Amino acid sequence: MARTIELQDHITVGNLAEELAMPVTQLITELMKNGVMATVNESLDYDTVEIILEEMDLDVELKRKSASESDAPTRKKKQYSKDATTRPPVIAVMGHVDHGKTSLLDAIRKADVAASESGGITQHISAYQITHDNRVITFLDTPGHEAFAALREHGALLTDLVVLVVAADDGIKPQTLEAIRFAKKAGVKLIVAANKMDKDGADVNRLYSQLSEHGIMWDGWKDGDTPVQEVSAKTGDGIKELLDMVLLTADVDDLKSDVNIPAEGLIIEAHIEKGRGPMAIALVEGGELKTGDFIVSGSTYARVRNLEDTLGKPLVKAGPSTPVIISGFKELPAFGDEFVTVKNEKEARKVAEITGNQKSKASSRAGSGADLLSIMNRSRDLHQLNIIVKADVQGSLTSVIDSLKSLDTKEVAVRVVSSGIGAINENDAHLALTSGAIVYGFNVELPTSIRQTVNRDKTSVRLYKVIYELIDDVKSELSELLPPEVIETPAGKLKVLAVFKTTKTEVICGGEVTKGKLITPALAKIYRDKELIAEAEVTNLKRGPQEAKEVIEGEQCGISLATTSKLDIKDGDRIEVFTREVVERTL
Ligand code: GDP
Repeated sequence: MARTIELQDHITVGNLAEELAMPVTQLITELMKNGVMATVNESLDYDTVEIILEEMDLDVELKRKSASESDAPTRKKKQYSKDATTRPPVIAVMGHVDHGKTSLLDAIRKADVAASESGGITQHISAYQITHDNRVITFLDTPGHEAFAALREHGALLTDLVVLVVAADDGIKPQTLEAIRFAKKAGVKLIVAANKMDKDGADVNRLYSQLSEHGIMWDGWKDGDTPVQEVSAKTGDGIKELLDMVLLTADVDDLKSDVNIPAEGLIIEAHIEKGRGPMAIALVEGGELKTGDFIVSGSTYARVRNLEDTLGKPLVKAGPSTPVIISGFKELPAFGDEFVTVKNEKEARKVAEITGNQKSKASSRAGSGADLLSIMNRSRDLHQLNIIVKADVQGSLTSVIDSLKSLDTKEVAVRVVSSGIGAINENDAHLALTSGAIVYGFNVELPTSIRQTVNRDKTSVRLYKVIYELIDDVKSELSELLPPEVIETPAGKLKVLAVFKTTKTEVICGGEVTKGKLITPALAKIYRDKELIAEAEVTNLKRGPQEAKEVIEGEQCGISLATTSKLDIKDGDRIEVFTREVVERTL
């Protein structure tokens, strides 16, 4: 008989584990296998729980307590003037890992002659524009939904539409749901790209019904409103129709933006490039960004030295919805920060300084109530895992680091000694050796020459292509740093009535069991007037002349205690007998 779990909207991982009567670590592992990174106290929504239960093949039925739509749209429309002009739509492509997000983005770029002629196809780009039907569309790759959510948190009106890639042979998976939730919450429209239609197992009808279970109704159905386009990133089938659909859906929103305002936008990627210094990829949201402009982002600023499109073609100016590469920043701007244009260098410096101060004040406030002493104490108890993180692009780097930071507990924490974009290099290897750090590479290579250094120095370099496998590994490294848990279980209490023998290493005394039962082998705490005076080992129990394994409440007995130094037990002392277990812990 299937067990039933009733759930309103959300349940914490810990409570779900309890409901399922399974160790919470096992549940967390199952969640991670499905791409859901959640700690004990984080809550899971109904849909995710449903999928996870299905994946685990448990004989459990899930019931909804009461249906309530909590994901109210939070997206705010940006204000613009009556002079505003039409701008290209900004599309985010999302989906479960391996469902073909990258392949689809590549196929879209290949389908665009202009882009493919520029020869940038093989390179990973976080944002780019294509032309379809003589109209421009901006695509954003979302390396990790966490990173994307971070961008959204900055209040940005980043995306106009989400293209949700679902492999039609695999159906809805946890990250698919995450994207659906994201779109719902952000109030962004969704188009589903049913990918891998060339494969034998592809079943779009099953997908329609799966989607409907999660409140997404295919527009081919009566009252449905979500377009589902069948595509194959492999053969290119359906790509044109998908792009038609994107434009059609975006048109309904009549997307506009002001051009005659000082340029503003968002930093969507940032890295240091050899010989060129800090480089940022930004999405212009309003106004026109030009070379020579002064822009401020967070606590840094730039005189825009070079402006390029994301394929590296120089630009003189860039208008709304255009992703651009900007060089000229004094320091690396932060991913997800907004940028604004100011009049001149003096103003840029001043604004950056003020923002910098505000930020550091905010972060010191964040540790509210934390005086120096408690911070010091905390760091003394804290075991840190030194790591170096390298990733292919800023977006994935931020996702990886953010996810790793969320593993921190009061006892163990990840310390990112260094991080950066690109293949693992000499510097990383050297730093790993001197700081005892593990190098984690996400979607990057370990060149042969560096591999030799690494092997020689026995430094640990680990390469991953799947984010949660990387996180899993860090998690198990962190677990090893956790001090084991000491579990003390009380057994019984004895009141000492007489002391028979005291030597340097042993005390034999007699008394009455006042609570529970005494057992051996076990440990004992000796109290005098509520004060703990010593700890000893219970080596023997005697009921009368007979040796006993246990003596229960109300009975009298003799007890032998092994001690490390002479222990002066007196009549009237109390002995608490207990067992102690040392358990290895996992995060
Ligand atoms: P991502 O993790 O979502 O970016 O997925 P990828 O684009 O890396 O694709 C995952 C795997 O599915 C790769 O082996 C692709 O070659 C394959 N793939 C992607 N799209 C299609 C498709 O339309 N048809 C087939 N047969 N395979 C596909």
